[in-house]
Amino acid sequence: MKIGFIGLGNMGGPMAANLAAAGHDVAGFDPAGVTAEGVAAVDSSEAAATGADVVITMLPSGAILREVAAQIIPAMQKGAVFLDCSTVDVTSARAVADDALAAGLSALDAPVSGGVGGAAGGTLTFMVGGDEAGFAKAKPLFDIMGQKAVHCGASGAGQAAKICNNMILGATMIATCEAFALADKLGLDRQAMFDVVSTSSGYSWSMNAYCPAPGIGPQSPADNDYKPGFAAELMLKDLTLAQQAAEAVDADTPMGTAARAIYAEFVENEDGRGRDFSAMLPRLSARKRS
Ligand code: NAD
Repeated sequence: MKIGFIGLGNMGGPMAANLAAAGHDVAGFDPAGVTAEGVAAVDSSEAAATGADVVITMLPSGAILREVAAQIIPAMQKGAVFLDCSTVDVTSARAVADDALAAGLSALDAPVSGGVGGAAGGTLTFMVGGDEAGFAKAKPLFDIMGQKAVHCGASGAGQAAKICNNMILGATMIATCEAFALADKLGLDRQAMFDVVSTSSGYSWSMNAYCPAPGIGPQSPADNDYKPGFAAELMLKDLTLAQQAAEAVDADTPMGTAARAIYAEFVENEDGRGRDFSAMLPRLSARKRS
C-alpha cells in the first residue's frame, strides 16, 4: 500500500519504520525534521497525504490533529483511509471523522496502548472507532504495527475505550502505591505484600505486571530508577482527557477526578515530570497524612 505517515515522534517513527520494513511504500512528514528508517521524507503533510491509500497521523493533541486534518483531507484521494492513532479528546476525533467522511474518505480513530516498546516491537494494541470498511482496509497495517486491534464501534469509540482504560490504570496505580506506602509504615514486608495481593482480590495490572516497588515482582520501571516507561505527564494527559469527556456527557467519575488531581500535583508542582507514572510510590512514601 501507499501510506502517508504524519508525526514521526517517539511512537510514530518506529510505527512508520515497521510499515516500511514490511514492504509498504511510506512517505513521512514531521515538522521537527525527524525521519524513520525506510520512510521517504517529504516536506509537508499534504505531500505525505497525496495519492496515499491510507494516511496515518500520530500527533500530540486534538488541536494539532484538527490543524493537520484541515490540511490533508482536501489532498487525500476519495476512498482513502484517514487513520488517526494519536490519543486525543473524543470531540476532536469525532469532528475530524465527520470532515473526512464528508470528503468521501474512511475515518478511523485508533489510539494505541503498549508505549514506545510496543511501537518499536510491533506489539501495540489498537482500540478502533469508525466504519467497518475502513477497519477492514486498515487491518493488515494494524497486524504489522501491533498484536491486536479491537473494533470498538463508531467514530470516537476508540478514544473512549482508551481514556476509560487509562482512567482505571491511573486510579489503580495510585491505589497500589498508597497501599505499599501504608504497608511500609505498618511494618509489612514488600515482598509479602506483593505475594499476597498479586494472588488475592487486590490484584491488578499495576501490581502484577508493573509493580511500582523496586526489586519486587516482574521487571518494571521501578527497577530502573523510575525512568519511563509511561511518563507521569502522559498519564496526566489521558486523565485530563477522561475528565473532559466526563464533563461533556455529565458522568460522575470521583476516582478519575481524584486521580487527575493527584497526577497534576505530581507533574506540575513536584518532581513527577519525566518520571514513570509508577513513581507515585516514592512520592506517597515520602508524605505524611494531611
Ligand atoms: P512525540 O511528541 O514524540 O511525537 C509527536 C510528533 O508529532 C513530534 O515529532 C512532532 O514534531 C510532531 N508534530 C507536531 N505538530 C505536527 C504537525 N502540525 N504536523 C506533523 N507533525 C507534527 O509524541 P509520542 O510519544 O510519539 O506520542 C504521539 C501520540 O501517541 C500522543 O497522542 C500520545 O498521547 C500517544 N501515545 C503515546 C505513548 C507513549 O508511550 N509515548 C503511548 C500511547 C499513546
